Amino acid sequence: MTHSIPALPVAVIGAGIGGLTAALCLARAGYRVELLERTERLAEVGAGLQLSPNALGVLAGFGLLPALEAKAAEPATVRIRSARNGRDLARVPLGPVARERYGLPYLVLHRADLQKVLLEAVSTSPAITLTLGAMLADVVQTGTGIEAQITTANESRKLSACALIGADGVRSEVRQRVMRGPEARFSGRTAYRATLPASAVPDELMTETGLWLGPKAHLVHYPVRSGREFNLVALVEENWDAEGWSEPADRDALLRRFADWPAEIRAVMQLPDVWLRWALCAVDADRPWAKGRIALLGDAAHAMLPFAAQGAAMAIEDAAVLGRVMQGAKDIPAALAAYQQQRQPRATQVQQAASTNATIYHMAWPASLARDTVLRASSPERLLRRMDWIYGWRDSGTA
Ligand SMILES: Cc1cc2nc3c(=O)[nH]c(=O)nc-3n(C[C@H](O)[C@H](O)[C@H](O)COP(=O)(O)OP(=O)(O)OC[C@H]3O[C@@H](n4cnc5c(N)ncnc54)[C@H](O)[C@@H]3O)c2cc1C
Repeated sequence: MTHSIPALPVAVIGAGIGGLTAALCLARAGYRVELLERTERLAEVGAGLQLSPNALGVLAGFGLLPALEAKAAEPATVRIRSARNGRDLARVPLGPVARERYGLPYLVLHRADLQKVLLEAVSTSPAITLTLGAMLADVVQTGTGIEAQITTANESRKLSACALIGADGVRSEVRQRVMRGPEARFSGRTAYRATLPASAVPDELMTETGLWLGPKAHLVHYPVRSGREFNLVALVEENWDAEGWSEPADRDALLRRFADWPAEIRAVMQLPDVWLRWALCAVDADRPWAKGRIALLGDAAHAMLPFAAQGAAMAIEDAAVLGRVMQGAKDIPAALAAYQQQRQPRATQVQQAASTNATIYHMAWPASLARDTVLRASSPERLLRRMDWIYGWRDSGTA
C-alpha cells in the first residue's frame, strides 16, 4: 500500500474498548492518532465480558489472540436454565464447536484484561499518542479540519486534527455536546456485578457460561482471569433512583429479589460481599453518527442492552470498518459518512436483537412455558446456527 501519511492526526476521544481498537485500526490505516482519555488511570471498570468470534477476528488481525487467550477462559457451552425450577432448558455449544464453525474462539474475560492487552498494543505503536486525564474543552470544524481545545491538569493546548472520533461511551459528550445528539435513555433495567475466586464456586460452574432465566430478571455467570475468578451478573427490571449510574449495591435487597430462585444459584449469589449496581442505558443506533469530520463509535453511537453480549464487540467491529474506510481517504467527511452507512444497519439490528432477548429472557409464567418448550425442543446446533449472522461477521479489511 503506497499512500502518503496524512499531515494531521485523527483525534480519538475515549480510551475504552472502542477507542483503543479504533486507535490501532487508524494507525494501521496510516494515520497518526491522538488518543485522549478523561480518566487519569485506565482503572478496572466493569467486570466480565464475553467476546465472540466477530470481535476476535478484528483483534486477531493485530496478533492479539494469544495474549487474550492467555487471560481468558473458553467455556464449552452456554447452559440455559429455568429460574423457576433450576431445570436445564438448552445448551449452546461453544469451545471447540465454535472454533470449528467460526475459525475463531468464543472467549470470556475481564474487561480490564481486554483493555490491558489493547493498551499494550497501543503503547508499542509509534503512531499513537495516548494522553490520560485529558478533557475536550472545545471543538470547531473548519472547512479543512478540526480545531480542538484539550485541557489536562498541567496545560490547555490546541489540537489540529483531520477527524475527531467520539469513542467516549454511553454518556458521550461528543454525541451530546458536539453533535447535539440525545442523552442516553435509561432502559428500566439494572445490572448487578460481582466477582469471586474460582475456589469459592463449584468446579462445574467454571467450565460453562450459565444463563438462568426468571421473571423480570436473569443471571449470567462465567469464569474470567484465565479461570482464576468467577464473574456473576444479575440483570433486573427495576427503577434507578440514584444520582450516578454505577454504585455499590444493596446486597441484602438483591438477595431478597432472588429469594425464590433455586437454592443452587442462591448459594453462589450469597458469596460476594460486594456487588456493584449499574443503570443499563441505551442510545438509539438509528440516529446520525457522522457529521462532517466528526463521528461516533461504540457505545457513544449505539449503546445497547447487554442481552446479546455484543456492546464491546460492536465497538470493535466499528473500529475495523472505520480504519478501512479511512485508509487512503481523500475526502474524510465522505469516508465517515461511508462508515456510518456500513455500520448503522448492523448495529441497529444487533441492538434490536438485544432488546428482543430482554423480552424473551424475562418472560413470566405462563408465557415462559412456551419459551421453555421451544428452547427444550431446539437442538444445540440450531441454537448456535441462529447466532451465525452475529458471530460469523468478518470485515473485508480484516478477514
Ligand atoms: C452488565 C454489562 C455486561 C456487558 N457484557 C458484555 C459482553 O459480554 N460482551 C460485550 O461485547 N459487551 C458487553 N457489555 C457492553 C460493553 O461493556 C460496552 O458496550 C463497551 O465497553 C463499550 O465500549 P466503548 O469503548 O464504546 O465505551 P467504554 O468502554 O465505556 O469507554 C469509554 C471511554 O471513554 C472515556 N471517556 C468518557 N467521556 C470522556 C470524555 N469526555 N473525554 C475523554 N474520555 C472520555 C471513559 O473514561 C472510557 O474510558 C456489557 C455491558 C454491561 C453494562
